[in-house]
Amino acid sequence: MFIITQHQYDLIMRQAQENYPYETGGILCGSSDGVIKGVMPLYNQAEGDQHKEFGMTADDTLRGHEFAKKYGLIFFGVYHTHPRGIAYPSDADLNHNQRFLFIISLCDRYNPEFAAYSVLPGKQVLREEIQIIDDKGVTVVDIQTGKPRLSDNVSSAAMHKLHELIDAIIDERARYPRLSPKNRFEAARSSFNTEA
Ligand SMILES: [Zn+2]
Repeated sequence: MFIITQHQYDLIMRQAQENYPYETGGILCGSSDGVIKGVMPLYNQAEGDQHKEFGMTADDTLRGHEFAKKYGLIFFGVYHTHPRGIAYPSDADLNHNQRFLFIISLCDRYNPEFAAYSVLPGKQVLREEIQIIDDKGVTVVDIQTGKPRLSDNVSSAAMHKLHELIDAIIDERARYPRLSPKNRFEAARSSFNTEA
């Protein structure tokens, strides 16, 4: 099971929407109890069709590992969007020897689905539960049902640490890829044309 704060969840979802209809992604890091504490958004470096592919460089992977190490976190893995596809790993996704895969499906664009998988031997996958907690750590929302429930596994000290980490993460966001207003307009128009 993974736990993510509302703040980080929103950050990822904003990135997903702003890059739509292109794939985008980044790296998630956290603690051994499955709490996602670091989000490092990346530019899509795919050389092919970025509507269908998310690519990152060896340098991005290295920066992700350095980011994790700097904050004493575990490198969980890569998240990426499927602007038109379901929240399930493609064959290509499973070829990267990742322990975990995080996929955001924008099939239903304004009702995105965020899914996490453990990758097992033989490219089998096991879907992991993800919970969103609010930034005060008071309530937990089950991502599947959308229903809030009480958090009993995040102490206030842990949340304080989390807030410090989030502040650090905001600095890392300086590298965050954004389409220029012109490109964003064209991207929106082309997606409208495709769907029309
Ligand atoms: Zn994929």
